[in-house]
Amino acid sequence: MRFKRNGSYTLNRKSKTKPNGKKPPAEEKKQYLEPEFTKIRVVDFDLKELVVLPREIDLNEWLASNTTTFFNLINLQYSTISEFCTGDTCQAMTACNTIYYWYDERGKKTKCTAPQYVDFVMSLCQKLVTDEEIFPTKYGKEFPNSFESLVKKICRYLFHVLAHLYWAHFKETVALDLQGHLNTLYAHFIVFVREFNLVDPKETCIMDDLSEILCTPAPPPPAQAPSSSAPASAPSPSSQNHVTER
Ligand SMILES: [Zn+2]
Repeated sequence: MRFKRNGSYTLNRKSKTKPNGKKPPAEEKKQYLEPEFTKIRVVDFDLKELVVLPREIDLNEWLASNTTTFFNLINLQYSTISEFCTGDTCQAMTACNTIYYWYDERGKKTKCTAPQYVDFVMSLCQKLVTDEEIFPTKYGKEFPNSFESLVKKICRYLFHVLAHLYWAHFKETVALDLQGHLNTLYAHFIVFVREFNLVDPKETCIMDDLSEILCTPAPPPPAQAPSSSAPASAPSPSSQNHVTER
Protein backbone atom coordinates (compact mmCIF):
# COMPACT_ATOMS: atom_id res chain seq x y z
CA MET A 1 0.00 0.00 0.00
CA ARG A 2 1.40 3.33 -0.99
CA PHE A 3 1.05 6.12 1.47
CA LYS A 4 -1.56 8.64 0.78
CA ARG A 5 -0.72 11.88 -0.90
CA ASN A 6 -3.11 14.20 -2.57
CA GLY A 7 -0.74 16.56 -4.22
CA SER A 8 1.69 15.55 -6.84
CA TYR A 9 4.66 17.42 -8.11
CA THR A 10 7.09 17.04 -10.87
CA LEU A 11 10.55 18.40 -10.97
CA ASN A 12 10.25 19.90 -14.41
CA ARG A 13 6.86 21.42 -13.91
CA LYS A 14 7.32 25.06 -14.70
CA SER A 15 5.80 27.54 -12.39
CA LYS A 16 2.86 28.57 -14.55
CA THR A 17 0.58 28.52 -11.58
CA LYS A 18 3.02 30.14 -9.26
CA PRO A 19 1.52 33.25 -7.73
CA ASN A 20 3.61 36.29 -8.44
CA GLY A 21 6.42 36.74 -6.02
CA LYS A 22 5.06 34.18 -3.59
CA LYS A 23 7.69 33.31 -1.08
CA PRO A 24 7.78 30.68 1.59
CA PRO A 25 6.64 32.21 4.86
CA ALA A 26 10.18 32.32 6.18
CA GLU A 27 10.05 35.85 7.49
CA GLU A 28 6.63 35.70 8.95
CA LYS A 29 6.16 35.53 12.63
CA LYS A 30 5.15 32.30 14.20
CA GLN A 31 1.40 32.41 13.89
CA TYR A 32 1.21 28.96 15.45
CA LEU A 33 2.40 30.39 18.79
CA GLU A 34 -0.52 32.77 19.13
CA PRO A 35 -2.73 31.83 22.09
CA GLU A 36 -5.74 31.94 19.81
CA PHE A 37 -4.35 28.84 18.08
CA THR A 38 -2.42 27.07 20.81
CA LYS A 39 -5.53 26.79 22.95
CA ILE A 40 -7.23 24.72 20.27
CA ARG A 41 -6.79 21.00 20.79
CA VAL A 42 -8.95 18.06 20.12
CA VAL A 43 -8.34 16.59 23.54
CA ASP A 44 -7.29 18.32 26.71
CA PHE A 45 -6.50 15.45 29.02
CA ASP A 46 -3.03 14.62 30.18
CA LEU A 47 -1.23 13.10 27.22
CA LYS A 48 1.42 11.70 29.50
CA GLU A 49 -1.06 9.08 30.69
CA LEU A 50 -1.56 8.08 27.11
CA VAL A 51 2.09 7.40 26.33
CA VAL A 52 3.43 5.57 29.40
CA LEU A 53 4.12 1.92 28.87
CA PRO A 54 1.10 -0.01 30.13
CA ARG A 55 1.85 -2.80 32.55
CA GLU A 56 2.34 -6.19 30.94
CA ILE A 57 2.91 -4.73 27.51
CA ASP A 58 6.27 -5.40 25.90
CA LEU A 59 8.25 -2.19 25.36
CA ASN A 60 9.05 -2.96 21.73
CA GLU A 61 5.43 -3.80 20.99
CA TRP A 62 4.43 -0.48 22.49
CA LEU A 63 7.03 1.44 20.49
CA ALA A 64 6.07 -0.38 17.30
CA SER A 65 2.37 0.23 17.61
CA ASN A 66 2.75 3.91 18.55
CA THR A 67 5.35 4.59 15.87
CA THR A 68 3.15 3.02 13.21
CA THR A 69 0.19 5.09 14.38
CA PHE A 70 2.18 8.32 14.37
CA PHE A 71 3.46 7.56 10.89
CA ASN A 72 -0.11 7.08 9.63
CA LEU A 73 -1.48 10.16 11.38
CA ILE A 74 1.36 12.47 10.36
CA ASN A 75 1.12 11.20 6.79
CA LEU A 76 -2.60 11.92 6.85
CA GLN A 77 -2.11 15.37 8.37
CA TYR A 78 0.46 16.21 5.69
CA SER A 79 -1.84 14.93 2.95
CA THR A 80 -4.42 17.57 3.93
CA ILE A 81 -2.07 20.34 2.78
CA SER A 82 0.15 18.46 0.34
CA GLU A 83 -1.33 20.27 -2.64
CA PHE A 84 0.16 23.48 -1.21
CA CYS A 85 3.57 21.95 -0.60
CA THR A 86 5.17 21.99 -4.00
CA GLY A 87 8.60 22.33 -5.50
CA ASP A 88 7.75 25.99 -6.10
CA THR A 89 6.34 26.95 -2.72
CA CYS A 90 8.77 24.87 -0.67
CA GLN A 91 12.03 24.67 -2.55
CA ALA A 92 13.79 23.30 0.51
CA MET A 93 12.68 21.30 3.53
CA THR A 94 12.58 24.14 6.01
CA ALA A 95 11.40 24.41 9.59
CA CYS A 96 12.09 27.51 11.60
CA ASN A 97 15.60 28.43 10.55
CA THR A 98 16.67 24.94 9.72
CA ILE A 99 17.07 23.37 6.31
CA TYR A 100 16.97 19.59 6.26
CA TYR A 101 18.95 17.71 3.66
CA TRP A 102 18.23 14.18 2.70
CA TYR A 103 21.01 11.62 3.08
CA ASP A 104 20.73 8.72 0.68
CA GLU A 105 21.58 5.11 1.52
CA ARG A 106 25.25 5.77 0.90
CA GLY A 107 25.19 8.78 3.18
CA LYS A 108 25.37 11.28 0.36
CA LYS A 109 23.84 14.63 1.26
CA THR A 110 21.17 15.75 -1.18
CA LYS A 111 19.35 19.03 -1.34
CA CYS A 112 15.74 18.47 -2.24
CA THR A 113 12.41 20.24 -2.18
CA ALA A 114 10.11 19.78 0.79
CA PRO A 115 7.65 17.52 -1.07
CA GLN A 116 10.54 15.36 -2.23
CA TYR A 117 11.89 15.19 1.30
CA VAL A 118 8.49 14.25 2.71
CA ASP A 119 8.14 11.68 -0.05
CA PHE A 120 11.50 10.15 0.96
CA VAL A 121 10.49 10.16 4.62
CA MET A 122 7.09 8.57 4.05
CA SER A 123 8.43 5.97 1.63
CA LEU A 124 11.15 4.98 4.07
CA CYS A 125 8.76 4.82 7.02
CA GLN A 126 6.25 2.81 5.01
CA LYS A 127 8.98 0.37 4.03
CA LEU A 128 10.18 -0.04 7.61
CA VAL A 129 6.86 -0.35 9.43
CA THR A 130 5.59 -2.95 6.98
CA ASP A 131 8.78 -5.01 7.06
CA GLU A 132 7.97 -8.16 9.02
CA GLU A 133 11.65 -8.53 9.95
CA ILE A 134 11.72 -5.10 11.59
CA PHE A 135 8.15 -4.58 12.82
CA PRO A 136 7.08 -8.19 13.36
CA THR A 137 3.39 -8.77 13.85
CA LYS A 138 3.38 -12.56 14.09
CA TYR A 139 3.32 -14.14 17.52
CA GLY A 140 6.70 -15.25 18.75
CA LYS A 141 8.66 -13.31 16.19
CA GLU A 142 11.49 -11.30 17.72
CA PHE A 143 12.31 -7.67 17.15
CA PRO A 144 15.74 -7.13 15.57
CA ASN A 145 18.63 -5.58 17.51
CA SER A 146 18.40 -2.55 15.27
CA PHE A 147 14.76 -1.97 16.20
CA GLU A 148 15.25 0.89 18.62
CA SER A 149 17.61 2.79 16.36
CA LEU A 150 15.20 2.41 13.45
CA VAL A 151 12.31 3.68 15.58
CA LYS A 152 14.47 6.68 16.52
CA LYS A 153 15.21 7.30 12.87
CA ILE A 154 11.51 7.21 11.95
CA CYS A 155 10.58 9.55 14.80
CA ARG A 156 13.31 11.99 13.86
CA TYR A 157 12.04 12.18 10.29
CA LEU A 158 8.42 12.45 11.38
CA PHE A 159 9.40 15.35 13.60
CA HIS A 160 10.84 17.13 10.55
CA VAL A 161 7.50 16.74 8.78
CA LEU A 162 5.56 18.10 11.76
CA ALA A 163 7.95 21.03 12.09
CA HIS A 164 7.55 21.80 8.39
CA LEU A 165 3.77 21.68 8.72
CA TYR A 166 3.89 24.36 11.40
CA TRP A 167 6.51 26.46 9.76
CA ALA A 168 5.31 26.44 6.17
CA HIS A 169 1.70 25.32 6.19
CA PHE A 170 0.07 26.51 9.36
CA LYS A 171 -2.08 29.07 7.53
CA GLU A 172 -3.47 26.42 5.23
CA THR A 173 -4.07 24.11 8.17
CA VAL A 174 -6.04 26.88 9.88
CA ALA A 175 -7.98 27.53 6.66
CA LEU A 176 -9.00 23.88 6.72
CA ASP A 177 -9.82 24.16 10.41
CA LEU A 178 -7.41 21.33 11.21
CA GLN A 179 -5.15 23.18 13.66
CA GLY A 180 -6.73 21.40 16.62
CA HIS A 181 -5.81 18.05 15.08
CA LEU A 182 -2.30 19.23 14.31
CA ASN A 183 -1.81 20.60 17.84
CA THR A 184 -3.07 17.39 19.42
CA LEU A 185 -0.99 15.21 17.14
CA TYR A 186 2.11 17.31 17.76
CA ALA A 187 1.70 17.35 21.54
CA HIS A 188 1.01 13.61 21.69
CA PHE A 189 4.05 12.91 19.51
CA ILE A 190 6.38 15.13 21.56
CA VAL A 191 5.21 13.67 24.87
CA PHE A 192 5.73 10.18 23.43
CA VAL A 193 9.26 10.76 22.07
CA ARG A 194 10.27 12.46 25.31
CA GLU A 195 8.97 9.57 27.40
CA PHE A 196 11.16 7.07 25.54
CA ASN A 197 14.03 9.39 24.51
CA LEU A 198 13.44 8.75 20.85
CA VAL A 199 14.51 12.07 19.38
CA ASP A 200 17.59 14.03 20.42
CA PRO A 201 16.48 17.24 22.20
CA LYS A 202 18.99 19.09 19.98
CA GLU A 203 16.75 18.09 17.10
CA THR A 204 13.46 19.13 18.68
CA CYS A 205 14.72 22.35 20.29
CA ILE A 206 13.78 24.41 17.24
CA MET A 207 10.15 23.87 18.25
CA ASP A 208 10.62 24.10 22.02
CA ASP A 209 8.61 27.30 22.21
CA LEU A 210 5.56 25.51 20.82
CA SER A 211 6.22 22.28 22.72
CA GLU A 212 6.29 24.15 26.01
CA ILE A 213 2.89 25.64 25.34
CA LEU A 214 1.22 22.55 23.91
CA CYS A 215 2.67 19.89 26.19
CA THR A 216 1.63 21.54 29.39
CA PRO A 217 -1.91 20.83 30.53
CA ALA A 218 -4.52 22.87 28.72
CA PRO A 219 -5.16 26.34 30.14
CA PRO A 220 -8.03 26.67 32.61
CA PRO A 221 -11.43 27.61 31.21
CA PRO A 222 -11.97 31.38 30.82
CA ALA A 223 -14.21 31.65 33.88
CA GLN A 224 -11.34 30.71 36.16
CA ALA A 225 -8.57 32.43 34.25
CA PRO A 226 -7.19 35.71 35.55
CA SER A 227 -8.40 38.74 33.62
CA SER A 228 -5.09 39.27 31.85
CA SER A 229 -4.74 36.33 29.54
CA ALA A 230 -1.46 34.56 30.05
CA PRO A 231 0.98 35.57 27.33
CA ALA A 232 2.51 32.80 25.29
CA SER A 233 6.23 32.55 25.66
CA ALA A 234 7.85 34.61 22.98
CA PRO A 235 9.93 32.91 20.34
CA SER A 236 13.54 33.19 21.31
CA PRO A 237 15.10 36.02 19.33
CA SER A 238 18.48 34.35 19.28
CA SER A 239 17.20 31.68 16.93
CA GLN A 240 15.65 34.10 14.49
CA ASN A 241 18.44 35.02 12.17
CA HIS A 242 20.50 31.96 11.94
CA VAL A 243 19.97 29.25 9.38
CA THR A 244 20.96 25.80 10.47
CA GLU A 245 21.65 22.97 8.11
CA ARG A 246 21.07 19.39 9.09
ZN1 LIG B 1 5.89 22.58 2.26
